[in-house]
Amino acid sequence: TLIENQKALEQLATELEKSKNRFSMAVDGTKAGIYEWNILTNQLYVSARFKFLLGMDTMDDSTLNIETFRFLIHPEDRNMAISLVNTAVELDTTYQHEIRLLQNTGSYRWFLDSGIVSLKGSAPQLAVGSIIDIHDRKSAEQQLKDKNVELEKANRELDRFVYSASHDMRAPLTTLLGLIHLAQITYIPGELDTYHTMMIDRIHAMDRFIKEVTDYSRNSRLEVKTERINLRTTTDEVISALSFLANEAGVEIKIEIDISLELNSDKSRLKVILNNLIANAIKYTDSSKPRRFLKIQAKPQEPYCILRIVDNGIGIQDQYKDKIFDMFFRATEKSDGSGLGLYIAKETIQRLQGKITCQSEEGIGSTFEILLPIDSTKN
Ligand code: ADP
Repeated sequence: TLIENQKALEQLATELEKSKNRFSMAVDGTKAGIYEWNILTNQLYVSARFKFLLGMDTMDDSTLNIETFRFLIHPEDRNMAISLVNTAVELDTTYQHEIRLLQNTGSYRWFLDSGIVSLKGSAPQLAVGSIIDIHDRKSAEQQLKDKNVELEKANRELDRFVYSASHDMRAPLTTLLGLIHLAQITYIPGELDTYHTMMIDRIHAMDRFIKEVTDYSRNSRLEVKTERINLRTTTDEVISALSFLANEAGVEIKIEIDISLELNSDKSRLKVILNNLIANAIKYTDSSKPRRFLKIQAKPQEPYCILRIVDNGIGIQDQYKDKIFDMFFRATEKSDGSGLGLYIAKETIQRLQGKITCQSEEGIGSTFEILLPIDSTKN
């Protein structure tokens, strides 16, 4: 009868309503944003949650289609994402991938995008899928990766360190033993003086090495401590500690730094950097040149201060240029150092968010250029 039919229809409607509610509660529970892509028209329908996840609650769906959606995918993920979905469409299967989507804030967040293609006849008609915010997990993964890279670097350095340090510390000891032995058997007083001078020399070399190792360890362990620094005065302090060496080598020092130039930086780190670079410019001077000089220039170029240490010393051979900043690397026989100076300078500059580069020509001279943030408290 009509009434029975009416009742059955109402019953069906209630069941349908219940089922719809159950479905939407389940979807809400997953916090997933749902989309439906009509592959024939390229129209894209998205749920309110989808818009919310992208921070685009007020987005107008009518302008949304698969073409405009593509531009929400991070450029680095876009091609991979498109080809994966296209394959799923061709093979009439499911797809799942992790992609970054653009937020209305202008930054990207990671989502897990999963979907399934449905066929009508043999032509794919719809793709229905969901996106779930996985940004926090991805960020944690990235942090873990970064930490791992850091750890691997530290491990490699430790290996190199143990290997080279044993050499660098044992070599002067062996020399010392030899010199002591010579001193014991000599009868000539003049010779004894020479041996003593050589011994003192070796002890100084070892002391320098230990000081460099301490500098390295300080830089990697201690927090960056910023204060207002006058660059000119700081440079003068470093130079006065090196003036004995400069006089001995006959190197003329010119400083071109405005007396009013100030930085917000870490003073002890800045002094280590300046000391290592200036000491090198003095050490690797070219004694065959009648006029030997070293210039220290600085000028602000927001947000950096550009510092240049220029010398007309022996220069560096092309083949060694990209190695000089490596740990324990020496590019010349003339080095009596540890090969740590430039490595420590580079690491220290990096700790201050700066950069160092070198231009050098063998027989002509070298220029080391440093970009240092004027204000290290700004990040
Ligand atoms: P070290 O001076 O102890 O050997 P560094 O790490 O300070 O170690 O420098 C690495 C190498 O780079 C040096 O052995 C030297 O060959 C080269 N070098 C550094 N600075 C200069 C410079 N100003 N002029 C020429 N060569 C340099």
